[in-house]
Amino acid sequence: MEIAPPLQLVWWAVMGLFVGSFLNAAIYRLPREELSVARPVRSICPNCKKQLAWYENVPLVSWLIQRGRCRGCATAISWRYPLVEALTSVLWLWIAWESGVEHWDLILARVLVISGLIVATFVDFELFEIPDEVSIGGMLVAPLVSFLTPALHADSRLALELSSGAEVDRTGALLASLIGVAVGYGVLWTIATLAERMYGREAMGLGDVKLLGAAGGFVGPLGALAALVAASFVGAVVGVLNIARLVCFLRRRVSARRSARSWSDSLAAARCAGQMLPFGPYLALGTALALVYWNHMRAWF
Ligand SMILES: [Zn+2]
Repeated sequence: MEIAPPLQLVWWAVMGLFVGSFLNAAIYRLPREELSVARPVRSICPNCKKQLAWYENVPLVSWLIQRGRCRGCATAISWRYPLVEALTSVLWLWIAWESGVEHWDLILARVLVISGLIVATFVDFELFEIPDEVSIGGMLVAPLVSFLTPALHADSRLALELSSGAEVDRTGALLASLIGVAVGYGVLWTIATLAERMYGREAMGLGDVKLLGAAGGFVGPLGALAALVAASFVGAVVGVLNIARLVCFLRRRVSARRSARSWSDSLAAARCAGQMLPFGPYLALGTALALVYWNHMRAWF
């Protein structure tokens, strides 16, 4: 029986909601060495250790019904949980829409990448690190997924040239993926090493380097460079806005305390505090754009 395309879109959105619930567990557990993604199987409240019943673990719905509190101990449950579930659902729907529901294998490959990017983003925001399971795991899995789903590299000129026919084949996709890993990792590693020499301190974590290596495996070498350019641009804009926000905050405190602190002092303090911004989320954003819109980005890149 043929399922109507709109219903298939709804199906991907609902699947995204449930996988988002799993991603929440991964975001919490992967960076915490005493926990594993598989164990404990059932989710527990981090505060009172109460095991959650199935009806306390329904994506979005449980959080809304319980008004963001644990039913056992009434501790507030982070808004990150419903946010990740809703975001995963929306992004899965977006990918199914942009890929065309009939290309279910391409959708599957792309939602896998997006899910890894979501985990990397939220762990990096919280702990300023990117789990190796996502970055190194991505670098290892990318060539395999590319071989199985050559459509992932359908818009890559390099993959086409490495293929024998008029369309991207398995060999072309596999080679483009391997070159993508090498270029993504190599470019950011070079930048990180040069920056460290210039500033005499670590300017960028190896986690970001490994993440762009994984990204290159899925979006190809040029896609990885485009992702890096997009990430730098968005990261710079957010960085400037963040410093402006900190300056405003500091000036308000200066006038409230009637202190004689100068503007340049406030700016220097804000720049110092503003340096603590993770780069992974912007790399993830750039990668997501290159993953789905490479055929549009190629023109101006
Ligand atoms: Zn509790």
